[in-house]
Amino acid sequence: MEYKYARRISSIKASEIRELLKLTEKPEVISFAGGLPAPELFPIEEIKAANNYVLEHNGGQALQYSTTEGYQPLRKWIAERMNSQLGTSFCDENIMITHGSQQALDLSGKVFLDEGDAVLCESPTYLAAISAFKSYGCKFVEVETDGEGMIISELEKALKAFPASKIIYIIPNFQNPTGRTWSLERRQQVADISAKYNVIVIEDNPYGELRYEGDFLTSVKSFDRTGNIVCTGTFSKIFCPGYRIGWIAGDKDVIQKYVLVKQGVDLQCNTIAQMVIAAYLEKYDIDAHINKIREVYRRRRDVAIDAISRYFPPDTKYTKPEGGLFLWVELNDRINTVKLLERCLEHDVAFVPGNSFFPNTNKSNTLRINFSNTQEGKIADGIARIGNVLKEFK
Ligand code: PMP
Repeated sequence: MEYKYARRISSIKASEIRELLKLTEKPEVISFAGGLPAPELFPIEEIKAANNYVLEHNGGQALQYSTTEGYQPLRKWIAERMNSQLGTSFCDENIMITHGSQQALDLSGKVFLDEGDAVLCESPTYLAAISAFKSYGCKFVEVETDGEGMIISELEKALKAFPASKIIYIIPNFQNPTGRTWSLERRQQVADISAKYNVIVIEDNPYGELRYEGDFLTSVKSFDRTGNIVCTGTFSKIFCPGYRIGWIAGDKDVIQKYVLVKQGVDLQCNTIAQMVIAAYLEKYDIDAHINKIREVYRRRRDVAIDAISRYFPPDTKYTKPEGGLFLWVELNDRINTVKLLERCLEHDVAFVPGNSFFPNTNKSNTLRINFSNTQEGKIADGIARIGNVLKEFK
């Protein structure tokens, strides 16, 4: 049967790497591949109690349809949290609840992108943001990025070269996949550039609260003078991803457009999930919970970095992220990390080869390590296995 698919589907390819990574589901595999939080840290007992509380006190409302914007007390909590941590000045009307921040990225494509528009992104960038934007027929312009964020002269060059640039997509805190964090100066500069060229910035911040050392930095949005910057956030990494609750935050006019498109997508987010999260936030101390997560992930990060320094070849370069879930490894140019992964899977260890994170270019000697979802005791063993396989690649 020859199906008459929409044109957009032809730009969405099955990933060879995803097929390979299916093998990591075997329990004996030490996987540094996914971006998963540690399930042993989910506050299951508290969620059970919050869930019972919501059903007992407000079951009818919790199981009913609700507004597209989302549950008001939750939106208010998010606005206040962002204001206190990120230097924004939001209220509940600036927030719309989404199914994960992933949905906020997809809706951003719907709101802003026409076919042929350009999305300017860090190089490398978050794989599923590439997929989300790509389905709207955009092209990508990778902007050279160093330890402080996008190189602003390169960003400006790209904006001049591509007048159809609509979105600058950035992850300023503990970026996926590199773990890098933008300096305050670059945050201010990108806000200035977005005003000068009238381009939207999507500031994606799933990991900002997971800082293990150093000072918290205010957001790019805090430097916004024109209303061009929208922020995405999520409960996935500080609470749990299973409820799929995230948000988009921005000026009211822009959020109204997101509300319009979300109505056509799914009407609203899961009502009970929003109410259970709001009840949890009211009854329990989420800061204490986040501190617990930080402590565990910081130790896992330290073990991973130490093991890489011991077991990987001396010419290996790697990031030392101050937070988040990932670190980024650059091996000798001769090494192809897809081939390396194939061999590593035979030794029951996995990671994601770096080339998936570049929409146009390819750096086949890079890889991403997730350290949050492997028990401390297994991290060194897993990294040592990769190190051993690397000896064959001399
Ligand atoms: N943005 C980035 C940079 C991510 O790494 C992720 C999750 N891995 C997301 C957005 C989406 O997360 P969620 O939909 O669970 O909020």
